[in-house]
Amino acid sequence: MNLIIDGMLIAGIICAGWGGYYLGNEQAKMEQFQVISKLQEEKKLLERENEQYRLEAEKRKQEQKVLEQLDLQTDSSLQKFVTAGTSFLDKKYIPQDLETVKSAIVVDQKNGKTQLRKEANEALQKMGEKFQKDMGFPLQVVSGYRSYEYQLRIEQWGCPAQLCARAGFSEHQSGLALDLFSASNQDQWSKSEKLSKIFDWLKNNAHFFGFHNSYQKGKEVDGYDIEPWHWRYVWTDFASYLQKKNITFSQYFRNYSRINNINKNIRDKQEEEQKNSQKEDKIWDETEFQNLELQEEKNIQKIENQDNIKISDEKYNLL
Ligand SMILES: [Zn+2]
Repeated sequence: MNLIIDGMLIAGIICAGWGGYYLGNEQAKMEQFQVISKLQEEKKLLERENEQYRLEAEKRKQEQKVLEQLDLQTDSSLQKFVTAGTSFLDKKYIPQDLETVKSAIVVDQKNGKTQLRKEANEALQKMGEKFQKDMGFPLQVVSGYRSYEYQLRIEQWGCPAQLCARAGFSEHQSGLALDLFSASNQDQWSKSEKLSKIFDWLKNNAHFFGFHNSYQKGKEVDGYDIEPWHWRYVWTDFASYLQKKNITFSQYFRNYSRINNINKNIRDKQEEEQKNSQKEDKIWDETEFQNLELQEEKNIQKIENQDNIKISDEKYNLL
């Protein structure tokens, strides 16, 4: 009987032990599972962050590529910057690929006399198509290319500098700028419901076609009062860049000039340092050379002395 009870007792203990072991094992597995899940969750989060960093870096690289292709100096460049204080390098510059704005889509208020450069004109036609489709009426151009002589005539007629750019300083001379609908004053544009709607459309769409509203932040920033009608072709990628960064061409140019100046200062300093170090090298070389010469003289002296001894020996022998 005792044996049976003992046996049961032992079996009980084994079962309880096994049960405990089993439960303990399950709990450990569960804990391990939770740790792994947490780590996987963390990994996913980090991967998502990494992907974001990668995309941002990719975007910056693409932006950099766009900016590297810009040429803000050459007169015939699509991004030649001109404003009240910055003229064309050749003030009498005439674009070589001007063509008339003839189209069934865009209305030329000067009856086919308005001219633009080829690329700007093609972009204008495409923008005109989209404009007509979205707004239900055609895009109207009131002014495009204006020659140096034309701008000079306006100047001589007495148009004040704050209203008319001086000859050689107008974006219109680039053949890339145009005035749309009504080139009058900002007030008229903000008060007219139709013009306000047109401006909203242009603000949201013109950059897709390469156009930028040059004067939108006021005289302090852009050098001219706000002109909602004045749009300048700068190339789609650059117009989109300016739109995304919410900066005007003037702001970009100012920054670009500052960076250029800083770079020039750094280059000048580096050149100066290089010249100074070359001078030091030269001084060192000269002393080195003098030392060598001195050594050489000593050697010659030594040989001469030895020769003298020999000669005197010979003399002695002869005697
Ligand atoms: Zn204009």
